[in-house]
Amino acid sequence: MADIVPAIEARNIIKSFGAARAIDNVSLRVNSGVFLTLLGPSGCGKSTLLRTIAGFSMPDCGQILVAGTDVTRLPPHLRPVNMVFQDYALFPHMTVRQNIGFGCEMKAMVKPEIARRVDAMLELIRLPNVGDREPAALSGGQRQRIALARALAPDPVSLLLDEPLGALDLKLRLELQRELRSIQRSTGKTFIFVTHDQDEAMSMSDLVAVMKDGRVEQLDTPQAIYARPATDFVAGFVGAANLITARLLKRDKTHVLLEVEANQWLVPANRITTSITPEVGDEVTLMVRPEDVDAGKARDCDLSISGRVSHQTFLGGRIHIGCETPAGNQIMMETRPGQVPAADGLLTFNFRPEAVVVLSRSKDAQ
Ligand code: ATP
Repeated sequence: MADIVPAIEARNIIKSFGAARAIDNVSLRVNSGVFLTLLGPSGCGKSTLLRTIAGFSMPDCGQILVAGTDVTRLPPHLRPVNMVFQDYALFPHMTVRQNIGFGCEMKAMVKPEIARRVDAMLELIRLPNVGDREPAALSGGQRQRIALARALAPDPVSLLLDEPLGALDLKLRLELQRELRSIQRSTGKTFIFVTHDQDEAMSMSDLVAVMKDGRVEQLDTPQAIYARPATDFVAGFVGAANLITARLLKRDKTHVLLEVEANQWLVPANRITTSITPEVGDEVTLMVRPEDVDAGKARDCDLSISGRVSHQTFLGGRIHIGCETPAGNQIMMETRPGQVPAADGLLTFNFRPEAVVVLSRSKDAQ
């Protein structure tokens, strides 16, 4: 069977600014129709990677392919991709219709075709009646919808969106997240979306690439990234995580035996998510999500760890309880008000072996 040609492919991209490496040998393939999000903390290289795909940043090494064609040396306007920016970047003295039609004119489409596409875009973004206004007469949310329509109008292979919702207040942001996702689904376009907001990434995307120090730490579905993070960095960045230091004592095909402070824990071998299987004697990091922890009576199959309560935070419908173990591991669980366990200051947390993930340590930047 012939290989599927990805809509966007980055091959071994390296980009430095002076001595600092912004992109450190990144390769990724994004299939047609996929909503991929580049997620990571400020400065991890998300925007530089997006700008490299768009042609606004030239890589030191590597190639960018769009629909199988090498575009690495092409300027932005000759690449079949379009970018949407946080600050909209609409032309202030053009009407909405002229703004949306701009890319089509650049492609030398005939006037009736441009008019048809502009109408279709105004319908798509559910603003059919603002075509004759100038951008100054629109709200922030409306301007971002127009910027989206302008980017989609020339029918690019892919849309590259650099924190497009970053300037909007929370309510509007949530509304536009849903709308963007629905527009992506209905048009079937490939979207590459940049954000540092994990909730935004998790709720909108088919795939998420979690970045750190110019590298992609993990590329997977939001569900897999949450349930089976590959590194301690991904586990801590996406959702709340208890990270516990342990040593690997024994390993066979079905199980690993781990030493955790004064305890020995037997965990199924398929809970190792790292591609590099740890060896006997190695120090590893274990992750357990707070919602998988309880402080009730332990069942026979449970793993346990005890510590002293360090804080309780009331969050309305739930309470966060934090605990510090004798070796300094911080364990956190969530419970409902009224179910707060005995408060003599000591607590034993229980969870099932299947709730544990054995992670690799994320490499630090050179
Ligand atoms: P943010 O979420 O804050 O936008 P980011 O993950 O998008 O961050 P980039 O903007 O890609 O990160 O920056 C990656 C690194 O490259 C940072 O250390 C940044 O300071 C550096 N960098 C980016 N552009 C330039 C530039 N034009 N000149 C010098 N350094 C740059």
